[in-house]
Amino acid sequence: MHPDLDHLIHLQHLDTETARAQATIAAMPSELAALDERVAAREQAVAAVRARLEESQRGRREVERDVAVVQTRLSRYKDQLMTVKTNKEYQAMQHEIATAEREVRTMEDRILDRMEEMEVLGAELKAAESALKAERAEMDAEKKKLDAVRASLETQVAEAGARREALVARISPDALALFEHVARRRQGVVVAEARDGHCAECHVRLRPQHFNEVRRNDSLIQCESCLRILYYAPPADAAQAQADA
Ligand SMILES: [Zn+2]
Repeated sequence: MHPDLDHLIHLQHLDTETARAQATIAAMPSELAALDERVAAREQAVAAVRARLEESQRGRREVERDVAVVQTRLSRYKDQLMTVKTNKEYQAMQHEIATAEREVRTMEDRILDRMEEMEVLGAELKAAESALKAERAEMDAEKKKLDAVRASLETQVAEAGARREALVARISPDALALFEHVARRRQGVVVAEARDGHCAECHVRLRPQHFNEVRRNDSLIQCESCLRILYYAPPADAAQAQADA
């Protein structure tokens, strides 16, 4: 194989790997943001249940204050009951007392309802808090994993950069200029395999004579359609036969 062609295939491999690593690194902030959103949603759920619980507590305290007011009134009535002079007054006071006692019972029922509600909400709050805790733990683990992946990709990119520099030094200036020219026009994918008479990147069928030239792998030949530099990889059996010969 032509040495430049061999080097360009390796260069392409390095560039492709580096581009993939860089794309993965570039996607990480949005992955992290998605994790933060999941936690934020759990935090909102906790805050919502807590707000309902506080509302319920407020309601209960309100009814308790009302009960106290009515009970004060009730004990005043009971005192007055001792001092009434007539039977009519006595009956009227009894009626007031019965009404106040009914009011107290109704309010005590409402307090019980509130207490039941608070019990349910308390359990809901506990569940929401433990879901938040689990989500936070999962997020921390995910972030650690992402950090480790990022560190390893950054190392890979740095190493590929060093290998690229060494490789580029061995490529003839014309071949390198061609590579860089096509790289700019084809988003970094410069080298293409010629497979079954086609360019594997743009899929155009190569003229038979053109394909035969490519198969020799002894010069830099571009696809006439996409301009990529073509190479031929013999099928595994043929490669083995060639190596054995
Ligand atoms: Zn092509």
